[in-house]
Amino acid sequence: QKQMCFKGERVMWIQPTTLSELVALKSQYPNAKLVVGNTEVGIEMRLKNLLYPVIIAPAWIPEMNAVQHTETGVTIGAACTLKSVEEVMRKAVSDLPPYKTEIFQAVLEQLRWFAGPQIRNVAAIGGNIMTASPISDLNPVLMASGSKLTLVSKEGRRTVTMDEKFFTGYRKTIVKPEEILLSVEIPYSKKGEYFSAFKQASRREDDIAIVTCGMRVLFKDGTSQVEEIKLSYGGMAPTTILALKTCKELTGRGWNDKLLQDACRLLSGEMDLSPSAPGGMVDFRRTLTLSFFFKFYLTVLQKLS
Ligand code: FAD
Repeated sequence: QKQMCFKGERVMWIQPTTLSELVALKSQYPNAKLVVGNTEVGIEMRLKNLLYPVIIAPAWIPEMNAVQHTETGVTIGAACTLKSVEEVMRKAVSDLPPYKTEIFQAVLEQLRWFAGPQIRNVAAIGGNIMTASPISDLNPVLMASGSKLTLVSKEGRRTVTMDEKFFTGYRKTIVKPEEILLSVEIPYSKKGEYFSAFKQASRREDDIAIVTCGMRVLFKDGTSQVEEIKLSYGGMAPTTILALKTCKELTGRGWNDKLLQDACRLLSGEMDLSPSAPGGMVDFRRTLTLSFFFKFYLTVLQKLS
């Protein structure tokens, strides 16, 4: 297969066939857009009148579509569609012991309410991450689970954890213009680890979130004492965020009523919104951060018993 290039009056569209061609193109055109499903870029160009003179289509590059089971999780190529991610997760959930697939089940739960089938059939996981929308449904799950992103450029590869430093502002990430996202590794959960994801939208199906979240807790071996906890929210700030202060305070505590009360108090302080916050519905959104935690608390309590 050969690289293809179409030149129009305003836009040049290039379809490389190997990863090295792609990396060379991104170094030559650092501001080029990588387009897979076009469900974000298409809207920006058609409805927001943005012009991207160079578009690169990476969907035919094998490494960008590869799925690998590793020691620590499942690595998914950035150009894999959400539909194929769903199939991979579903298979892993049916093949592996349940304790290993807590995070995969949360990914499936988010995908169930993610857009409609037409979008899921074409939109890629990499497009969702790299758009860095504050109401992305997958990013809170990837952040709370500490998923790992592999980035490639002419300088080589680097792997970064999706944590509170990954998103640097509204629709901005630490990924450099000349870098591409190659893959994301979603980890297996461990024994004593529990994970949930919730989304509230105005409509259940095919709607963007008002608030969305990913929540993870790991208990000390054989106990109900919190070893690690990560609560990630979308829809509460210009980026996907972690409730770092709350999580720090809850570490080491037992999973009981007192923890629930304290978590609600801490979250309502930390997940504050100014009355003029973009998106409105300020009281509703603040309440959702607590009700999601309440659901998580009960879900985990049930699993512990
Ligand atoms: P594209 O438009 O092809 O690309 C998006 C951006 O990512 C571009 O800036 C592109 O340059 C960059 N990019 C893509 N791949 C890479 C890469 N490998 N390396 C570096 N940069 C890259 N989102 C939700 O979270 N939840 C929803 O419920 C939801 N519903 C939607 C409903 C509709 C009707 C529409 C139109 C969109 C919806 N979205 C939703 C948003 C969108 O579908 C997702 O973000 C989707 O995953 C984007 O993938 P894509 O392949 O279409 O992205």
